[in-house]
Amino acid sequence: MNLILMGLPGAGKGTQAEKIVEKYGIPHISTGDMFRLAIKEGTELGNKAKSFMDKGELVPDEVTIGIVKDRLSMDDCEKGFLLDGFPRTLEQATALDELLAEMGQELDSVIHVDVEKDELVERLTGRRICPKCGATYHVIFNPPKQEGVCDKDGEALIQRKDDQPETVGNRLQVNLEQTQPMLDFYRDKGYLVKIDGAQEIDQVFLDIDEKLKTI
Ligand SMILES: [Zn+2]
Repeated sequence: MNLILMGLPGAGKGTQAEKIVEKYGIPHISTGDMFRLAIKEGTELGNKAKSFMDKGELVPDEVTIGIVKDRLSMDDCEKGFLLDGFPRTLEQATALDELLAEMGQELDSVIHVDVEKDELVERLTGRRICPKCGATYHVIFNPPKQEGVCDKDGEALIQRKDDQPETVGNRLQVNLEQTQPMLDFYRDKGYLVKIDGAQEIDQVFLDIDEKLKTI
């Protein structure tokens, strides 16, 4: 089962990834984890990636694709994989297609957890974080017992700069514009499965599961 999970920030992608991985026994491969592993193991590509990151530069696609290839060749991917955060651009999506063909594999589904932008703004701006222990809350969906205070250590909660309304709108717009060409690409290829991410978390997963059962 070779899957890609897509969705804008706040769409609940992380939560759904956990559920998919647990049920189907495939590894959750996020871009960050993949890079960290390659760097930690000191692979040739890992070292290359690190040299760009140390300079604060973007890692070129050919290096990233190489790291993806190494990761997808590992034993735990025998039953498939769930890619999260990759591909990030249309160029990467095309390269992934070629890579999979080279490996004698094919994508099964691109799951798009779809949530309206306005709803995402509400979700993201409601997020509060404890600066002491890192616990996250949400003023509506997951409020602390006492408003503005961490349940675990009584620290005053803060709103990350990234979660402030002016930043959130911008961030979503940039993401939307970057994601759309890939969604079109995968729709044209017949891989795209659109899931209504505005529903309850469990219902979102039931819908995903329903689609995956037909693979
Ligand atoms: Zn705390």
